[in-house]
Amino acid sequence: MAPQTPRSRRRLAVLAALPLLLAGLPLAAGAEPDSDDGASPVSAAASTGAATEIVEVTVADQDAVAGLIEAGADVTEYTRPADGGLVVHVVATPAEQAALRDLGYAVGEVVVSAAETEAVVAEREAAVRRVNQTFARMAETLTPLRAEWFESVGGQTYLGVEVKTSLGADSNVTLSVGFGGQSVTMDRFVDAGQYIYHTFFEPVAVGDVPAEVTVTSTGGTSITVPVVEWLGDPRPDPGPHYATGFVDHYMDPTELYDRIEALAAEFPELAEIIELPYQTNGYRRKAQAMIGAGATAFYLTSRAWGHEGGNDLRLETVHPGTADSPLTVGVTGGTVRVSLGTDAAGAPNSTAAQVVAAVNAAPAASALVTAATYRATGGTGIAGAGAQDLTDGLDAPASVSREPFTVRAIRIGKVRDGSKTGVFAYSQEHAREWVTPLVALETAERLLRNYGTDADTKKLVDDLDIFIVPSVNPDGGHYSFYDFNGQRKNLTNHCPAASGDPASANSWGVDLNRNFSVGSRFDGYSGASASCTSGNFSGPTELSEPEARNEVWLTEQYPNIGFAMNVHSYGGYFMWPPGAYVQNGRVPLPRPTLGEENYFWSASSHILSAVQDWRGTAVWPGRTGPVSDVLYSAAGNSADEHWYNRGIFGWDFEVGADLWDPVEQEWDPQGFQPPFAEGYEQAMEFSNGLIGLLEVARAHGRDNRPPRTTLELTDAGVTFDSTEPVTIHYTLDGSRPTYSSPRVESAGLREDAAPIPVGAGSTRVHWFSVDAAGNVENRYDPLRPSSSYRKQTVRVG
Ligand SMILES: [Zn+2]
Repeated sequence: MAPQTPRSRRRLAVLAALPLLLAGLPLAAGAEPDSDDGASPVSAAASTGAATEIVEVTVADQDAVAGLIEAGADVTEYTRPADGGLVVHVVATPAEQAALRDLGYAVGEVVVSAAETEAVVAEREAAVRRVNQTFARMAETLTPLRAEWFESVGGQTYLGVEVKTSLGADSNVTLSVGFGGQSVTMDRFVDAGQYIYHTFFEPVAVGDVPAEVTVTSTGGTSITVPVVEWLGDPRPDPGPHYATGFVDHYMDPTELYDRIEALAAEFPELAEIIELPYQTNGYRRKAQAMIGAGATAFYLTSRAWGHEGGNDLRLETVHPGTADSPLTVGVTGGTVRVSLGTDAAGAPNSTAAQVVAAVNAAPAASALVTAATYRATGGTGIAGAGAQDLTDGLDAPASVSREPFTVRAIRIGKVRDGSKTGVFAYSQEHAREWVTPLVALETAERLLRNYGTDADTKKLVDDLDIFIVPSVNPDGGHYSFYDFNGQRKNLTNHCPAASGDPASANSWGVDLNRNFSVGSRFDGYSGASASCTSGNFSGPTELSEPEARNEVWLTEQYPNIGFAMNVHSYGGYFMWPPGAYVQNGRVPLPRPTLGEENYFWSASSHILSAVQDWRGTAVWPGRTGPVSDVLYSAAGNSADEHWYNRGIFGWDFEVGADLWDPVEQEWDPQGFQPPFAEGYEQAMEFSNGLIGLLEVARAHGRDNRPPRTTLELTDAGVTFDSTEPVTIHYTLDGSRPTYSSPRVESAGLREDAAPIPVGAGSTRVHWFSVDAAGNVENRYDPLRPSSSYRKQTVRVG
């Protein structure tokens, strides 16, 4: 499915024709400020431009119209004959009109001005306001989703509240939370044009914790909601011999992999190295040199990798100093020498495009390099003289290999025969997230080094089969450490020549957490880009990248893997599937069952309490939940891959929670590469969290106790209480419940179970519950004739 309209693609081309304009456009992925929300360059271009107008452009004939489209103009269907040719209508901003004039087009009258369009927009907005006001007079329902207090670093107490109003589509309806004589206005969470709920985007610092809060809406309704504690479950302290703190600096991928190899060698009884089959591109690039700027520019790319000879090449472009010289290309040693053509007056007259053609046609030169013009300029400018060495631009020391990289997992467990519950933890899909590999490595060290002295650690290693990949993306990781610290993607360049110039080098690569096969861009899901220079480039196809295929291979090779943690930074999020939706209607991937969702929540509570144990950091309730409920859509991410294709409970950590600044009284984001002292604390606390996940997995693996439910009849219908998170299947017609019987479902996003309506009179309810480990209540077997399901008759009226 093509996510860009042809129109937006053409508009970008016009903008790209003007280097002056380009300077203002965030084309490079590295310019993106945040972790996972990079806009595509197309939308960036669209949002930075002034309002478009429709203008007349007069051209000679239909062929010229084709040329206009080729130049990047957004030509409408409208055409009429005129003196000496055709008048067509073109959609363009004033800057784009100027670009067309510069290209020699006769841009005429404005047909529809920006002001006219603005008037239409204003008229529409007034109409929408009228509709909203009507809407606001309708009865309002407020649904409380969450109201929680928690303590975080430094002992400060915070309040988080989420409430949904039935009038949420109306942006004029505001909600406020009242407690202890204060009133705080809530934020309205809107995504993909759809109202989601009201919340505090940042929890509110409070002195005394209120027992309840009153939420009041300007829609005319108010509700009182009890406030419960978030996290803070007292977990047992680690044993007296439990050691932590095994990392003391940020480590590049070469160091990380050396370290896990050494660990496996030191603990052969407990660990081994698994080589993943798909080698990466490697930390290597072709060497390049560019001469000129904009339309006069052209660049060479070596055929050999930089370290295999590309870096030894040189480009020289010289002015022959005589009239009527032909354009020639020669090679001497490693130097490609271009002698520019001149006119009768002795002035150079070779365009960049002609130089490119000449280099590519000269056998000696084209054996060494390929030549291209700069971006969408077409190389129409006259090329100038200059000289440059070709370089791959890679600055890592020689100790970092330039060869394809073999990604490895360290597999930890006393019994590694596939019989134990498997857990897969993996870090650094995104190269610049330097803390994340330390979370993985610290956890491996804690497991191995505490095994002999700490009983709790021994239980984890004895009862689990743990796979840890410290860096999924080692090439990007090396690039981030030594060349461009903002690197997010891998190092494989899928860009065509138009974005293959050396100035684009920091924008190449694939966003590995968009390259997976479930809910992908190719399936029509939102949150990944088709642009090879976007920070969220999905890659050319699903699973095109070896780094992504390695993850899939591991989970297929070891089907005992039932849990996964995808470690990212930053922001202090804790999320699970669904992680993607279709933009139109914000339709997510199928939600887990209510029981599965409740299991995600209860496991999260354990894991986040473990994080909090380190130094008090509380991941906010508002940053906990399915990706699509708390953040946005991330088409083709790996947690969705593992959950939907293989049933693996898959989470994402975004380590590096905001820290409260008590002086400024504000939350401070921590970034991808905080000073190591802070990075260390993050690695320790989220390693705690990873250990918490292992505890969850171990409990799951040993869980053979069936759940127990009790039926309750409320005014709204039948509901159930349960001893643990369960999925409940039921019938109301006296038939035997099976796995295909209706399920108790959630009433809505972040809401509890919807009651099952029952009519007046008596209703026979048959049901069974099943927990996350697959244990069925009463040990009933829904697949065989059996009557040991639960039964109860309820009477209404
Ligand atoms: Zn990330």
